[in-house]
This record gives sequence, C-alpha cells and structure tokens, in this order.
Amino acid sequence: MTFNDDANIEGGRVSKRGRNAAIAGGGGGLVVVALVIVSQLTGFDLTGLAPLLGGGSGTETSTDQSGDLDQCKTGAQANNNIDCRMKAAATSLDAYWLTQVDGYTQPQLVIYDGQTDTGCGTASNAVGPFYCPPDQKVYIDTSFYNELQTQFGASGGPLAQLYVVAHEWGHHIQNITGQMNNLNLQDTGATSDSVRLELQADCYAGAWVDGVSSTPDANGVPFLKKPTDAEIADALNAAAAVGDDHIQETLGSGSVNPETWTHGSSEERQRWFQTGYTKGVASCDTFSAATL
Ligand SMILES: [Zn+2]
Repeated sequence: MTFNDDANIEGGRVSKRGRNAAIAGGGGGLVVVALVIVSQLTGFDLTGLAPLLGGGSGTETSTDQSGDLDQCKTGAQANNNIDCRMKAAATSLDAYWLTQVDGYTQPQLVIYDGQTDTGCGTASNAVGPFYCPPDQKVYIDTSFYNELQTQFGASGGPLAQLYVVAHEWGHHIQNITGQMNNLNLQDTGATSDSVRLELQADCYAGAWVDGVSSTPDANGVPFLKKPTDAEIADALNAAAAVGDDHIQETLGSGSVNPETWTHGSSEERQRWFQTGYTKGVASCDTFSAATL
C-alpha cells in the first residue's frame, strides 16, 4: 500500500524526539519502567535485545526534533521517508476515525529514539511500540521496524509498518470510546480481556486499511492507493510475527503456553485483521465473540 503521491499528509499531531548524546555522569543503566498497560504491539520485552535496538547505557535526554516533520507535506514524501510515512499514517488515521467515532479526538504520535518520558513512565524501545492511555499518545521508535524483520521474522514492507501504527491507534479508539473500562487487564490467557483487547486493535487496523483508500484528504484526494495482495500479505505476516505462540516459540522458552498469552495467536491476529479489513469496524466486537 502506498500513499497517493499528491495526497496532503499535513494535519496529524506528530512530534519527534531525538537522542541527545550527552550522558549524565554516573547514571549508568537504562531506566526501564515496566508499563502497566497492555497497549503494546507485542507481549514481548525486547530488553535482552537492547544492543540491537540501540538502547544505550547512561542517562539520556531527548531533544525536540519535531521541526524535521514540517517538511513532510505529500504522499510522495511519505512513500520515501520513514518519518513522513509516520506523519502520513497519523493524518490518515485521524481522517478515517473521524468518520467512524462521534466525538473523535486526535491522539499524538511520538517518534522517539532510544528512550523517552511518557505519561506511563520512562520507556525504552525495549517495550516496542505502545499507546499510553493517560496521555493519549502513541510511542514508536522506528528502529522497531528492523526488529520486526530480524527478530520476529516478518517480511516487512510499508503496509506492515502502517499496520503497527494502526494497531496502536486502535487502542486509542478503545480508550476514548470507553471500551478499555472495566476490563481485567492483569489477567492472561487465550480468552482473557487482554487478548480480546489486542485482537480488537488488530481488527480496527484492518478496518482502517480498507477504509483509508477511500478516505479523502483535505483536497479530496484519497490518502492511499488500494493495497495489493502482496501488501496485504505483508501486513498479515507482521500480525502473525507478533502472535504470542510465534513469539514463545522463537524468542521465548520455545514451548507454547496459552495461559500466559496477552495478545493472541498468530492465526487469531491475522484472522481479526482480515475480519476488520473485509467487514469493517462493526465486525470487531471481540468481547462478545464466542470464539476468538
Ligand atoms: Zn496492542
């Protein structure tokens, strides 16, 4: 899936935080605060892979580099530049969800490098992309896209990247519509509230992928071209790569234990994405589904 070259991608609330190389003396150790939220893309902690992720040691401060995003104005730029692609994702996700949710409010997308302060604590990129409900921001270190391929074994591609952002946007939708309320998110297991919440976010991502190619920008130009079969395959492949069973087999203990699942199996994540893609937002009631 690629953006239409002349689509206007301005409008999304996106900021960029760069890494400041200055290291405060004597700090040592990366501060990783466990996020007591289930709004991540995966249930896997990448801490052990930190050298690969570029999560360094020492105390880092970040600098605001949001000005870099001002030059991102068109779909053509989004097709060629990862930061512009993230901005375009935010703008087009807003445009789509405005048509789906009464009283929709924009979250903010924060592109960061290494670690950053959030309303959910200090986060390093070891937690992967996530949404923080208290501050209504989606956080992503785009180096995760390399991990998605090298560690999780995904095929990659632009639509796989957009699926990741759209999944986190799904958590924002769940937050502002109240679907996150009254859930037992400490519980794990194949039919737990956590898994149902995550599969619904995958379904919402699928619904956006279908809807956004007919959602017009401010000038009436659809944001994205209709995805090709190969691009859909990339998105499904990414959903499979972050399935709990696949992660347990390849990055965890090696054995599959559904009792500890928080995000659903590879098959389930693909199927709910597909459900949203073919049937739309109304089909995404994973909380009432008899089988997941
Ligand atoms: Zn999630």
